[in-house]
Amino acid sequence: TTTTVTKTTTPVVQLQSISREFSGSVAVDSIDLTVRRGEFTALLGPSGCGKTTTLRMIAGFLPPTSGTILLDGQDATTLPPERRNIGMVFQSYALFPHLTVEKNVAFGLRMRGVPSAEIRTRVAEVLDLVGLAHLAGRKPKQLSGGQQQRVALARAVAIRPSVLLLDEPLSNLDARLRVQMRQELLRVQRETGLTAILVTHDQEEALELADNMVILDRGRIVQQGPPREVFRAPATRFVAEFLGYENFLDLPGRGPVTIRPEHIGVLGPDAEPPAGGELVEATVTAVRFRGTDFAVTAAVGDRTLHAITADETLRAGASVRLHLPLGQAIPLPGDDGAARLGKNPRQECPA
Ligand code: ATP
Repeated sequence: TTTTVTKTTTPVVQLQSISREFSGSVAVDSIDLTVRRGEFTALLGPSGCGKTTTLRMIAGFLPPTSGTILLDGQDATTLPPERRNIGMVFQSYALFPHLTVEKNVAFGLRMRGVPSAEIRTRVAEVLDLVGLAHLAGRKPKQLSGGQQQRVALARAVAIRPSVLLLDEPLSNLDARLRVQMRQELLRVQRETGLTAILVTHDQEEALELADNMVILDRGRIVQQGPPREVFRAPATRFVAEFLGYENFLDLPGRGPVTIRPEHIGVLGPDAEPPAGGELVEATVTAVRFRGTDFAVTAAVGDRTLHAITADETLRAGASVRLHLPLGQAIPLPGDDGAARLGKNPRQECPA
C-alpha cells in the first residue's frame, strides 16, 4: 500500500478563546487551538485537565461557555452534532450489539442518506482498510476488544469526516494490543489523509502518534508542538514531570533545570570521573532491575536523584559519586521557580 499524506496549512478546526464552566468551576480555560488538514493532534494531560470537555465541545455535545469554534473555516459554535461532519471513536466501542459488523459500519452512511450501492462499496473499502473484511457478518460480541475497536474506527472513517475525534480509543485494550493498535491507527489516519484529534493521558501514545502534541493543565494549554520538540525542551516542571522527567535541580546562575536519568553517571569508588560537569556524593537508596539495566535512586543531601546504570553489583546503601553533565541539563524557562529566581524582581511590579 502506498501512503499518501496530504498536509496542507488549511485549518480544519479552530478554537478561539474557548472556555467551559460547570456550575462556576472552570474545566476549560480560554483555549486557542488550530488543527490543520491531515494533521494528528494529541490532547495530553492528567485526569481532569479538560481533555474530554474540549473534545465534546468540538463534537457539539457540549456548548462552550464562551469563545468560538470554527470548523472548515465556518462558525460552528452553536451547530448541533449531526450537522458537524465529525467521526468519533470512544474508549467504550459503542457498537450496536444487535447489528453485524457490516451494518454497524454502514450505520452513519444510512443516516446520511448515502445510496445503498455506494454504502456497499464504502463499507467494503473501510473494512478492508482495518483488516476486518472477513468478519463482516459477525456481531460485536463475537469479536475481541481490538477487533471491536477496529469496527468503531471503520464506522467513524466511513462517513469521510472532516475530523476524526478519538477519546482514549486504546485504553480498554491490553498493553501489547494497545501498542500494536497505535500503529494501526496511525496507518489508517495516514492512508486516508484524515485530520485527527486524540485525547489521551498516555504520554507514550501521544509521542508516537502526534504531529502536534498539546499539553493541558487545569484547563489551559501549557505547551504544544511536535513531540520531539516538546520532549526535548519542556517549558515547565509540570510538562517535564508529565513526560517522565524525574530529576529537578535549581542551579545557581542557571535556575531550574532537569536532567535525564540516563545522562547521570553512577561512579564507584575507583572510577575515573569524566571531564566536565559536576560530581556529587550520594547514597543509593534503591535499585530496580529493568531488564536491560538498573534504575538507581540516590540521596544527595535532602534531594533525590534518579540515574541508570549497567552495574549489577550496585546495592541500596552504597556510597557513590554521581556525575552530572551540566551541558546536558535542560532549562525549564517557564517554570514557576524561574519567576522566583528572576534577576530583577522590580520588572514584575513597575513602580
Ligand atoms: P480524564 O482523563 O479523567 O477523562 P479529562 O482531562 O478528560 O479527564 P474532563 O472530563 O474534561 O477531564 O473534566 C475536566 C473538569 O471538568 C473536571 O474537573 C471534571 O470534574 C469537570 N466536569 C466534566 N464534565 C462535567 C459535568 N458534566 N458536570 C460537572 N463537572 C464536569
